[in-house]
Amino acid sequence: MGETDRIVLGEEETYLPELPEVESVRRSLIANQGAKIKAIELNREDIVRRHDFAIDRLQDKNIREFSRRGKYLILNLGPGYNLIIHLGMSGRFYQLNEDSDITAKHVHAVIWLDNGKKLVYEDPRRFGGLYLIKNRKQFFNRMGVEPLTKEFTPAYLHKITRNRKIAIKSFLLSQNQVCGIGNIYADESLHLAGIRPDRPAGSLTAGEAERLCQAIKKVLQQSIDSQGTTFRDYRNGLNQEGGNQSNLQVYGKDKEQCPNCGEVICKQTIGGRGTHFCEKCQK
Ligand SMILES: [Zn+2]
Repeated sequence: MGETDRIVLGEEETYLPELPEVESVRRSLIANQGAKIKAIELNREDIVRRHDFAIDRLQDKNIREFSRRGKYLILNLGPGYNLIIHLGMSGRFYQLNEDSDITAKHVHAVIWLDNGKKLVYEDPRRFGGLYLIKNRKQFFNRMGVEPLTKEFTPAYLHKITRNRKIAIKSFLLSQNQVCGIGNIYADESLHLAGIRPDRPAGSLTAGEAERLCQAIKKVLQQSIDSQGTTFRDYRNGLNQEGGNQSNLQVYGKDKEQCPNCGEVICKQTIGGRGTHFCEKCQK
């Protein structure tokens, strides 16, 4: 499984789709559940990162379920057949009417459905990809708990952080403990919870773990409700921008005032990632 959340190109801090963006794509395409794949057009063979079977085996199969795990979209097409999609950095996956012209330049795959739609996968920078996976449980076996499920509780977060010396920010980004959180929602959750991002994960008290657990759920849900955060590339499955950028409190706001206390928001590199926080609110 390729984890592509750690890409930094030169000085550029890149923005990648996280759980709320991928979930917004899923929700906006959910009406295609049940449709049958008529044909798949693949313009770049190497965009398929793993083949457990040949791609033409998906022809005439129905999309039984359109789900998500972490930052991955999953089209289940029956037992042993999953088409898994990762948007990487600049990837988009959206529907068009089957007779609409495709104007984008870097379209790597088009999935023609029997419901009058086609699903388009484009990714100019090609950090994303498609995975043809037989056993999805195995594919995701190293991925941590989904933060918006009942399994992710304050007690669980407290338990998995015990004795961990890694910075809590890096812990949240690691995907194998809690999945789907990237740079934006880690910074926003830690600000809302009042916890410094460079604190060792193991130093969180039970009360802090509770605040952080609730903050993570809140910032992710708020973003899903706004169709995700669009700075540049991200679009939902209807090729529309998200609106969550207006809800952000600290991410991308270095040298601006903390909306909570008025202190200037600082930016430091923690675990190789640009990290925004308020030194006054976050202890
Ligand atoms: Zn503050």
